[in-house]
Amino acid sequence: MSNLRNIPSVDEIIVQADIEKLLKSYRRDFIVNCIREVIEYIRKSLRENNNNDEEIKREIIMEQIIAQVKLSVIKNSQGTLAKVINATGVVLHTNLGRAPLGERAVQYMNEMASNYNNLELDLEKGERGSRYTHVEELLQKICGAEAALVVNNNAAAVLLGLSTLAKGKEVIVSRGQLIEIGGSFRIPEVMKESGAKLVEVGSTNKTYIKDFAEAINEDTALLFSAHTSNYKIVGFTEEVPTKELVELAKQKNLPTMIDLGSGILYNLADWGLKEEPTVVECVNSGADVICFSGDKLLGGPQAGIIVGKKELIDKMKKNQLTRALRVDKLTIAALEGTLLEYLSGDPAKKIPVIKMLSQDLEQLKEKAQELFNELSEKLTSESHVEEINLIELEDMVGGGAYPTYKLKGYGVELMIKGNFLERLSKKLRLMEPAVLARKQDNKLLISVRTLLEGDQQILVRNIKQALQTLKQEE
Ligand SMILES: *Cc1c(COP(=O)(O)O)cnc(C)c1O
Repeated sequence: MSNLRNIPSVDEIIVQADIEKLLKSYRRDFIVNCIREVIEYIRKSLRENNNNDEEIKREIIMEQIIAQVKLSVIKNSQGTLAKVINATGVVLHTNLGRAPLGERAVQYMNEMASNYNNLELDLEKGERGSRYTHVEELLQKICGAEAALVVNNNAAAVLLGLSTLAKGKEVIVSRGQLIEIGGSFRIPEVMKESGAKLVEVGSTNKTYIKDFAEAINEDTALLFSAHTSNYKIVGFTEEVPTKELVELAKQKNLPTMIDLGSGILYNLADWGLKEEPTVVECVNSGADVICFSGDKLLGGPQAGIIVGKKELIDKMKKNQLTRALRVDKLTIAALEGTLLEYLSGDPAKKIPVIKMLSQDLEQLKEKAQELFNELSEKLTSESHVEEINLIELEDMVGGGAYPTYKLKGYGVELMIKGNFLERLSKKLRLMEPAVLARKQDNKLLISVRTLLEGDQQILVRNIKQALQTLKQEE
C-alpha cells in the first residue's frame, strides 16, 4: 500500500511547470478536474497491483500524472465528431454521416454561417420573407414540380405530409410496404404519430390495385406508397405501379403521396443503377406529393424534401408542425449549393456521392493499383501482414437505396496473420483520422471507391502506424 502514499496531491501537481503552462490556455476548474480524474485512475491501478511490493518513487508517479493530464486535456478539448476515412465501399453509410458535401455546398454554407443573410427577408420589398422561398424555385425547376418544401429530414417530411393530408382519416398502404428503416423509422409508427389511421391492404408479397379500390370509403383521405428502400421481396410478388395508383386516386378524387426514400435527381442508369424511379419520373407519373431525403442519393445535407401539387404543399406550410420541423440557414445553404450543381454544374464531377457512383471500373482499378503499390512498398517489413493483393470487390450504394444491387469495385486486401485482424481494425478506428474498412475472414478489405481526395496517403500512414504499434505490443 506504500505506493498509494506516494501519489502527490492536487495542490502539488497544479504548481508544476507543465501544468502551469496549461493553465494559461484552459480554465482552472477544467484542469483541476482532469488532475482529479488522473489521480483516481492512478490510485485504482496501484491498488490493483498492490501485491507487487516494489516501490514506485513519488517523482515517477508525478511524471506519469503530468503526462496523463496533458493527454486528457487534449482529448477533452476536442469535439466528439471526428473525421473518418471510409474504406468500406458503402457510398451512403448512415453511421458515417451519409453524403459528404461538395465544394459549392460547403463554400456557400460557410459564407452564410459567418455572415448575416436574407433568410427571412424579402430584399425587394424590404419586408419579412419566408425561409421556404429559398430552395423552392430550384426544386421546382429540377424536379418539374409545382411546389416544394424542405424540412428537417425525410422522416419529418412523411410525418408532416400524413398529418396535413390525413389527420383523423384513413390512409391506404400496401402490406408489402410497411417498412422499417434503420434508426427506427417505421411507417406504421409514423402514421400513428401523425394522427392518421393506417389501413393495410394486400398481402406481404402481393398487392393489386383492386385491393386499394375495395378499401376506399368516405373516411379515406390518402393513398400512400413507400419505397421499400432497404430490402426487396423477390419471387412471386406484385406491387401496384405508381401510375395505376394515381389513376385510381384521380377517379376517387383522392391525393397520392409517395415516400421515395432516396430521391434520385441524376440518372445513373449508365452505371447500372436503373431499377429505381427518379424524382422527375415520379412527378411525371402524376403523384400529388413526393418526399425524399437530402443526404441520400441527392448528395446534399440532411433534409426532407417534399415536392408536388401547390395546393397541398401550401397546406403543409401552414401546418403548425412545420415550425417544429423547420430547417436552418446552414441546411438551406448546403442544399442550394448542391442543387445548383444539378441545374448548372456537373453533378458527376462535383457532387461526391454521384462522383463515387459514376466512376468506371478502369478508374477504380487504377486507383486500387496505386494504393496496392504504395501499401506493398510501405508494408514490406510488417510481420503481421501475410499478403497484399489487388482485388475486385463488391461495393454498395447504401442509405436505403438499391438494397440488392452490388456495385463492382476494386480495392486492396491485406491478409493478416493469426487473429490480429480484430486488434488491427480497432487500432485503425481509434486513430486520427479513424479508418473504417471491411473485414472478411482474416482479411482487411479496403475499397477505393469511397476514398476522398487526400485519403489514400493518410490511410497508408495510419495502417503502417497501427501495424507498428501491434508489433511493439508483443
Ligand atoms: C431513408 C428513408 C426514410 C427516412 O429518411 P431520413 O432522411 O433518414 O429521415 C424514410 N423513408 C424511406 C423509404 C427511406 O428510404
